[in-house]
Amino acid sequence: MRIILNFGVRMPRFLAARLSSLLAAALVALPAAGAERVVHVYSARHYQTDEALYAAFTAKTGIHVKRIEGKEDELLERIKSEGANGPADVFITVDAARLGQAEALGLFAPLRSRTIEERIPANMRTGTWAAFSTRARVIAFAKGKVDPSTLRDYEDLASPALKGKLCVRSGGHPYNLSLGSALVAHLGEQRTEQWARGIVANLARAPKGGDTDQLRAVAAGECDVALANSYYVARLMRSDKPEDREVVSRIGIAWPNQQNRGTHVNVSGGGVLKTAPHPAEALAFLEYLASDEAQAHFADGNDEWPAVRTAKVRNPALEALGTFKADALDVATLSRNTALAQKIYDRAGWR
Ligand code: FE
Repeated sequence: MRIILNFGVRMPRFLAARLSSLLAAALVALPAAGAERVVHVYSARHYQTDEALYAAFTAKTGIHVKRIEGKEDELLERIKSEGANGPADVFITVDAARLGQAEALGLFAPLRSRTIEERIPANMRTGTWAAFSTRARVIAFAKGKVDPSTLRDYEDLASPALKGKLCVRSGGHPYNLSLGSALVAHLGEQRTEQWARGIVANLARAPKGGDTDQLRAVAAGECDVALANSYYVARLMRSDKPEDREVVSRIGIAWPNQQNRGTHVNVSGGGVLKTAPHPAEALAFLEYLASDEAQAHFADGNDEWPAVRTAKVRNPALEALGTFKADALDVATLSRNTALAQKIYDRAGWR
């Protein structure tokens, strides 16, 4: 493209050429009048409620949301390999361990937003990403078979009384790694390793499946006690499938560590990518997620609790689960301890 400009004043030829090339650069950098503003969101979430949420964001800001969905690890790989050539503006995923992984890979840009700092509690954000919803890792038990008063703390899961009675997914999964990270922070490395050895000693079967599979195994009598994230329980509670109702009727839920540090909570969250082609739109999108209206929808889409305390929850399953004391450990510590938690689980043989 060659732009010829007449500046209407006499000036040296080299200056005119310089000005005209500067103007040409500015014209390229600015979106043409009426051009669509857009944000590319790489999201590991796939809920219908998110559609409505994104439409509301577009109505409010005029910024269109292009969603690229995939499994957490695939999206992370894609963002890494596409780099600056890719369209990714925002990465949204679940669990501090995974968000911390994206941060450690240097994929996120620094997150500077007064809105987010004012609305998202300080323990739920780092310098590069923020949490938008929370979930708890709860203990599920076979009703009538287990006395819930024996399940006061996560530490009780390692008690010899539960030998051969525990179902839990792989130790390498982020949900268990984040729990291990929290235990490292609270109990130290040595006691966490003892705990992990206790978990392995108590297994009813080799770790397999996801959290819902552990809940089903308790209901089926394969084990008496399991660990699962709260939204899997809520999802079964909201299901109208008879087999899910049956599972819910057979399990009880215990909230660990209510008399001391609180139940371990994790998060869904996101950040702006360092290579984002649309950083302003990306930040506007994250700030919108922190608004009261977006918070209620974003959290409810996965039966989670909003990160913003003033946001209202209208979800019968969450209401039925009730209130609890949450561990206030910050997400930065959770993600930082993940690698150590993995080493501890490896030593303990929690595959
Ligand atoms: Fe999950």
